[in-house]
Amino acid sequence: MTTLYRWEFRPYQRRFRQPMQTRHGSWEVREGIILRLTDGRGQVGWGEIAPIPWFGSETLEQALFFCQQLPLEITATDIFSIPAELPACQFGFESALGLENGDLAAGRQGISPPPSSLLFSCLLPTGEAALHSWQQGWNCGYRTFKWKIGVAIIEDELKLFDQLVQALPQSAQLRLDANGGLTRQTTHRWLKACDEAGIVEFLEQPLPPEEFEVMQAMSDRYATSIALDESVATLEQLENSYQKGWRGIFVIKAAIAGSPKRLRQFCKEQDIDTVFSSVMETPIGRQAALQLAGELSHRDRAVGFGVYHWFTEDEREFLERLWNSH
Ligand SMILES: [Mg+2]
Repeated sequence: MTTLYRWEFRPYQRRFRQPMQTRHGSWEVREGIILRLTDGRGQVGWGEIAPIPWFGSETLEQALFFCQQLPLEITATDIFSIPAELPACQFGFESALGLENGDLAAGRQGISPPPSSLLFSCLLPTGEAALHSWQQGWNCGYRTFKWKIGVAIIEDELKLFDQLVQALPQSAQLRLDANGGLTRQTTHRWLKACDEAGIVEFLEQPLPPEEFEVMQAMSDRYATSIALDESVATLEQLENSYQKGWRGIFVIKAAIAGSPKRLRQFCKEQDIDTVFSSVMETPIGRQAALQLAGELSHRDRAVGFGVYHWFTEDEREFLERLWNSH
């Protein structure tokens, strides 16, 4: 007999401790949707829809509209039929159901700690603030740091980069993320600087997705690896880039990539070099994403989930308040 799940959802807003500056502008409030499925035996599964429209997912409005038109009782077939145009919804509902088709995810009722086998990368504030912030992360045990570039004038950023490289201990690793904000010329300058610095793990998405072939050609010319992020935001783009021959690093933001079931299938079939990364989701989405990362990421790359310090309030209190305030 087909299992029917009753389900409910709550939209949420979480303000960042300080706005996140990327080349897409200033991001101040993380908005999303928490959902809960309950089966006939009263077992529950939690899920999170955390879109980033400027990254290629649906908008929050589209996700809300989808939720509002769904019936109050749904089946697993309904969930696996969510269209690819709603990748964050696919992730939210499927992870609430559990990755295996069938029972609601065991242990998903509470918030459990991340898999201890994973190393985490710490996201530094953009610009000069990074110089005063890495130490705190280092003291918390982080050894990989990520810094956003492509926001200010390249000369200024290269100067700060030099200072950051000098300040960081030898055993630290640094990731640079341009969010597609460089030109071909500035990408060459950055890659050269990265090669000289010797502690850069990779340069992430130097050019916009349209410049795929250029990034592919550049990746052979420097010792520093290039990672694709915006280019591979959804599973379809990921498959497409792989088919076009990308063999560099793939950043996977599981919460907006689409169906976890299909993502898992793809990562298991293709031996790709992955870095799983946060979309500033709550612990509910994070737990589902980290479960995938624990299973699918490899080659000792830290996962980009060191973002706890970007919010002020206690996560558990936030979720309890959200769920009980309606
Ligand atoms: Mg990125």
